[in-house]
Amino acid sequence: MDTLEKAEIIYVDKDADGVWCDGGNPALGHPKVWYSFEDHQKTKCGYCGRIFLKNTD
Ligand SMILES: [Zn+2]
Repeated sequence: MDTLEKAEIIYVDKDADGVWCDGGNPALGHPKVWYSFEDHQKTKCGYCGRIFLKNTD
């Protein structure tokens, strides 16, 4: 069963300053956008809803 919203979580390197997101596939694609983590552990794409989370180990 998959009743939760489809927010996809993408894990990135803990030292990353930010991430590029372009939606990742043709159906959800959007213009390539840079999201900076600044001092946060995660950021969310305003286009496709993906959540980018820093690895902590
Ligand atoms: Zn996106």
